Amino acid sequence: MYDVAIVGARCAGSALALSLARHGLKVIIIDRTRFPSDTMSGHYIHPAGVSALRRLGLREDLERLGSPALRRMSIDFGSFTISGAPTPARDGTVDSFAPRRWAFDPVLAEAAVAVGAELREATNFTRLVFDGRQVKGIATVSTSGRVEDVRARLVVGADGKRSRVAAQAGARVYDTVPARTCTYYAYWKDLPIDRAELYVRDGRFAVALPTNEGLTFLAVAWPVDRFGAVRKDVETAYLAAVCELPSLADRLVSAKRVGRFTGTADTEGFFREAAGPGWALVGDAGYHKDPITAQGMTDAFLHAELLSECVVDGLGGARNIDAALMTYSQRRDALAKPLYDMTAELARLSSPSPEVAALLAAVAVSPGATSEFLGIMAGTVHPQEFFAAPNVERILELAGRPKAA
Ligand SMILES: Cc1cc2nc3c(=O)[nH]c(=O)nc-3n(C[C@H](O)[C@H](O)[C@H](O)COP(=O)(O)OP(=O)(O)OC[C@H]3O[C@@H](n4cnc5c(N)ncnc54)[C@H](O)[C@@H]3O)c2cc1C
Repeated sequence: MYDVAIVGARCAGSALALSLARHGLKVIIIDRTRFPSDTMSGHYIHPAGVSALRRLGLREDLERLGSPALRRMSIDFGSFTISGAPTPARDGTVDSFAPRRWAFDPVLAEAAVAVGAELREATNFTRLVFDGRQVKGIATVSTSGRVEDVRARLVVGADGKRSRVAAQAGARVYDTVPARTCTYYAYWKDLPIDRAELYVRDGRFAVALPTNEGLTFLAVAWPVDRFGAVRKDVETAYLAAVCELPSLADRLVSAKRVGRFTGTADTEGFFREAAGPGWALVGDAGYHKDPITAQGMTDAFLHAELLSECVVDGLGGARNIDAALMTYSQRRDALAKPLYDMTAELARLSSPSPEVAALLAAVAVSPGATSEFLGIMAGTVHPQEFFAAPNVERILELAGRPKAA
């Protein structure tokens, strides 16, 4: 009998397993994949995520992975660019990283195993085992055909956006946002870059990030209704979009693409009920949003940390497990909601209103405001604090611009 059985061993599942095993809980993680394996994803980890990984003891492992530490971010809006370093996290973390998932995910899973979690790869979760309404375990089948039930006091679905655990548990879906963007990405050799570069245009978004092996990750996003047209000839659409961004296009001329284009239009947003009797969800399984703000991995670490605290209390006897899981649900939603709404707004890919454009132009000429603004994406500044009327007025005044009416 395990304390916790976790389905899915990537960002959310392994981060949770690591934290729980470190608290002495008996944990098993299963994943149908065998590591190392890649997954369709960008891999930008914001300072708030790096800070969470530091708390898990993985900061040095992150540095060893071979993707450079990034201190600066620039967001090019066409007529002006906001460029600088974000406000640091509370522990002083200012770096972000963009390690390839085939390199990063196994390190996380191995760290969980090193502190006592049991990892079963190439093992598929098939269904929940119930006793009445209470989940009591999981049924699994290995790729060699071995069928086994695993009993646990708590089952956690960290099995991604199409979570089978969530479907079996009947988790309610709420606060949905339809898919608004589609995106394609590729890796490039000899595309020099020393920071996270974002490009925002009407109907278009692009992001370039340095990653492992000296390669640059370059993604382009379009409105979702362009997906059919884009995928008919991805290369032409992708290069045409980059050509509209001269500072990037100039560098792409001498770069060479390594590998194929990968893309998706599966970008809808939703929350799923985070927990019920004997089960909980973490990571994309419980909360999904458009990748445009690259928050999925950072959220997975932060939500795993929240869930771990509540599970340690609940299974350790400090409080009732159902009450502890309720706390997790509330705290997860409160933490996620502001950036969820902002992500949904950015995913419209529409030009900012004149008021917002004036604010952003004022931010661009103030190093302090730049750090605060970039801190929103970095997870180190609360959007409500930044967009509070007195703060907006202060930024506009600093830039010598008239206050908003
Ligand atoms: C195009 C794109 C770009 C992105 N860019 C970024 C970015 O730059 N930064 C960022 O933070 N996020 C980004 N994201 C989001 C990020 O990929 C996810 O938020 C993140 O991977 C979620 O981690 P997770 O552990 O919850 O789920 P996943 O990474 O989806 O892992 C789920 C695991 O569960 C396993 N699993 C599923 N079903 C079963 C089953 N039945 N039995 C056993 N195992 C199972 C899978 O094999 C998988 O290993 C991007 C996403 C996309 C699509």
